[in-house]
Amino acid sequence: ARQPPREVDVVVVGGGQAALATGYYLRRAGLEPESGYVILDAGEAPGGAWRHMWPSLTLFSPAEFSSLPGWRMPMTGQSGMPPAAHVVDYLTRYEQRYDLPVHRPARVTAVRRPVGASTDRLAVESSEGVYEARAVVSATGTWGRPFVPHYPGMSSFRGLQLHSADYVGPDRFAGLRVVIVGGGNTGAQLLAEVSTVAETTWVTQRPPVFLPDDVDGRALFAVATARRKALDAGLADSGGVRGLGDVVMVPSVREARDRGVLHASPMFERLTPKGVAWADGTHQPADAIVWCTGFRPDLGHLAPLGLRGPDGRIPTAGTRSLGEPRLHLVGYGDWTGPGSATLIGVGRTAREAVDEITALLGSRS
Ligand code: FAD
Repeated sequence: ARQPPREVDVVVVGGGQAALATGYYLRRAGLEPESGYVILDAGEAPGGAWRHMWPSLTLFSPAEFSSLPGWRMPMTGQSGMPPAAHVVDYLTRYEQRYDLPVHRPARVTAVRRPVGASTDRLAVESSEGVYEARAVVSATGTWGRPFVPHYPGMSSFRGLQLHSADYVGPDRFAGLRVVIVGGGNTGAQLLAEVSTVAETTWVTQRPPVFLPDDVDGRALFAVATARRKALDAGLADSGGVRGLGDVVMVPSVREARDRGVLHASPMFERLTPKGVAWADGTHQPADAIVWCTGFRPDLGHLAPLGLRGPDGRIPTAGTRSLGEPRLHLVGYGDWTGPGSATLIGVGRTAREAVDEITALLGSRS
């Protein structure tokens, strides 16, 4: 039998770092787990996207610069930056430590304004039934929406095409000719790895911009903090970390530079059955193409609210949706707050969202 809707104050959609940081502040604001707030995560296990990243991936900041509010990420015991598995372990323990009411797997399929109903609640439809919430925080990240740009001839290419989201390591590329597409950190890091076993060609839309060797996530955080302060003080937007360059010179990328493979060509014009071709007629034979072309915000569950702007994002003031004040977005990218899509930065945006939500709940209770 169909269950009646469950009423809660807040539903958090997601279960990665952004959802957990939000849960931390909801708990601290005194909301009761389960009756006051629930966290619905489609994932099978804790860790959000970190569960799916390639095993050799390491953070670009040390543990103490990769922490969520309340509890520092423990040191790894090894030298260097923590691996993705360490983040999964940290997030697993974080949600246990704060006893966060995470339901898993629970996928939210739609968030709606009830039509003609005498309620001011949003209806949250999920694989475990319907919730009626006075506020919703969407924290679904981007991992579920890998982006591949369209190029002519894509379907004619006879080799392997893979998005970086499906990359698990270099082994399957041994001895092949591989084109790596994308000038960000993922492109540079996969190039560094794959080029140890394969013949690689790196293509990027713009020439890649490398950060100085001594700049890691700590410096990037300092820049994001400076931007935040400037914005708070009403000063001009510095543009944050994008102004500095893209590629962090992690050890594997430095080593690739030393081997002389860190050279990018401009974007090709089309794919052919056997490779890629540029406008000037140059052709590069290829057995595989790896698209390191990023992700888009995973917002399909919010479609019924009709809030999407032309760029695929939902316009916000801070984290609050401009078109639906009961909805907040946490994580995703800098557009929901400086550093919101990083471990160390998301806490501040989560706190701002929860402050606004508790004010909203207080004004109506
Ligand atoms: P996610 O971790 O993606 O979590 C979203 C969760 O929502 C998932 O569990 C998913 O199952 C769930 N979900 C999705 N849709 C629904 C739905 N409809 N209903 C219910 N649940 C749903 N940041 C750093 O701070 N340091 C780094 O070194 C760093 N390295 C990165 C390297 C790579 C390759 C990438 C891609 C990102 C990196 N980031 C880094 C950025 C960022 O920290 C991560 O992307 C992080 O996973 C974002 O967390 P999140 O909680 O916003 O989203």
